[in-house]
Amino acid sequence: MKSTESCSICSKKTDDGIHLLQVYICRSCEKEMINTPTDDPKYQYFVQQMNKAHRSVIVS
Ligand SMILES: [Zn+2]
Repeated sequence: MKSTESCSICSKKTDDGIHLLQVYICRSCEKEMINTPTDDPKYQYFVQQMNKAHRSVIVS
């Protein structure tokens, strides 16, 4: 049985995603992140969400 994980950034449940530093993100967020320049405030948001999710993985 395949379990569906939810994206750490948009919380969407999808099988089509990747694990990045133990954090699960969906394809659309991955694509968006790649296409966002690092000086864009949106990129900071992605990083923040990733850090939050990553911390919760370590704590649990
Ligand atoms: Zn997502």
